Amino acid sequence: MPTPPLDEDQVHPEAIMPSPLSINIRTVQKRKTASAQIRGASIEVVLPKHWPKSFQTQVTHQLTQRLQRQFLRDYQLLQSDHGPTLSFNQKKSLAEWVFELNQRTFRVPVKGVRIGHAKYSRLAQMNLKTQMMTVSQYCLNQVPESALTYLVLHELAHLKVPNHSRDFWEEVKRFIPDLNHQKRLIAAVHRVRIYEAELEKLQATQIKKETGVLKPKHLPLEKEASVLKQLLIKLF
Ligand SMILES: [Zn+2]
Repeated sequence: MPTPPLDEDQVHPEAIMPSPLSINIRTVQKRKTASAQIRGASIEVVLPKHWPKSFQTQVTHQLTQRLQRQFLRDYQLLQSDHGPTLSFNQKKSLAEWVFELNQRTFRVPVKGVRIGHAKYSRLAQMNLKTQMMTVSQYCLNQVPESALTYLVLHELAHLKVPNHSRDFWEEVKRFIPDLNHQKRLIAAVHRVRIYEAELEKLQATQIKKETGVLKPKHLPLEKEASVLKQLLIKLF
């Protein structure tokens, strides 16, 4: 039974997030409009340079608030129950799962599967020439089976219909009746897993810095001593 769609404006107070997204602002000379997007654990805002400061602040606030809310909804969505989950960290086991799914559905001539490691690339893609499918590693960790099934069937369907025409979506819909929900779910998985990975990296760097494990290299002895002193002051 498909989960009912979330109310767009509703964010439950009990939804927990380890830490809010940080904000990076860039002002650009040639820009006429503002834009913002989530990249890992931060929101990147691009603003026209000629805008008055107060207006830049106002727009930044609006855009980032909206994205923070959107991200919180992603986070929340993943906390509710979506049935069984899957995790793949090896190409071989993922390929087996994909081939088996293909056998039960489209039976298209997919050649192989690889795991993509780029952080800001697409969720998945199908190379129509080589018939090789790539799935982002950020869609493969603790992912609801229903959402990964949608993602993989979407790519397999491209071997029948290359573009995103009405025919294409009809093909996908044959096996995924609630495709809009699954689409939303897999996008949330992708965003949240990248966020978590980035946060983990940031925290690891922070811990290293605070404990002095990560010592700046090639500093003159005198300077090194003062850096160490600062670290010690911070620690005790
Ligand atoms: Zn597509």
